[in-house]
Amino acid sequence: MTVRGTLYTVSAPSGAGKTSLVNALIESIDDISVSVSHTTRACRPGEENGVNYHFIDVEQFKAMVKADEFVEHAEVFGNFYGTAKSTVDALLATGVDVILEIDWQGADQISQVFPDTVGIFILPPSIEALRTRLTGRGQDNEEIIEHRMAQAISEMSHYVEADYVIINEDFDRALVEFRSIIQAQRLTLDNQQARHGEQLQKLLS
Ligand code: GDP
Ligand code: ADP
Ligand code: 5GP
Repeated sequence: MTVRGTLYTVSAPSGAGKTSLVNALIESIDDISVSVSHTTRACRPGEENGVNYHFIDVEQFKAMVKADEFVEHAEVFGNFYGTAKSTVDALLATGVDVILEIDWQGADQISQVFPDTVGIFILPPSIEALRTRLTGRGQDNEEIIEHRMAQAISEMSHYVEADYVIINEDFDRALVEFRSIIQAQRLTLDNQQARHGEQLQKLLS
């Protein structure tokens, strides 16, 4: 039987560095993958349908909600975002750990459906740094950036609901911290017994 992987939610205000950190983590550790969400927001330059998001229109999104195809969904910055049940089930069944890059409302819904979910919150070192990063990313116009900055404090206030908090000041340090969370989680008694139960039993026989 394949042991199910751990489900992680990674939340952060827009521009804190969650996508960059998740992408770097995936490159540097095995047996972990990111769930691709559905969204109604416009595709940014450089983004690819099916890779960064499944880009769909509002009608399609509403049809999926009606058909109960999402494990969680939320409206963020005036767009709809959701995680398809099929995506999470398929990934977890392969035994790999799964990361959901979702807002706090989604993280809250996920922790109710999957109580063993590990919540990680990424914070910027300061509000000024957040604005610099959002502007520097060069992918959103001024109005969108202002809208995201206006929401940042209310999104960040939910860091207290997470199990782990990373302050992304120095990127490499934040990446090491992110990796340590995943590695420590793989070494909990429950996870070690699930993966190495036979070996552990032999030691005591
Ligand atoms: P970015 O985070 O600045 O790169 O902007 P995005 O437009 O990619 O994401 C905006 C917000 O929507 C972020 O808070 C994401 O975490 C959140 N988000 C993305 N996908 C999902 C999802 O499937 N479900 C939920 N609930 N939130 C999502
Ligand atoms: P999010 O997915 O949380 O919206 P991104 O990963 O897109 O954030 O990062 C926003 C911008 O900030 C990107 O241009 C990224 O290169 C930059 N960035 C991320 N982490 C750091 C850091 N520690 N120091 C400086 N810039 C960073
Ligand atoms: P110190 O080592 O003195 O705790 O922190 C040194 C610098 O790292 C400070 O500027 C601080 O803001 C930043 N820092 C503090 N905690 C964290 C953390 O958890 N992750 C990262 N990446 N930086 C942090």
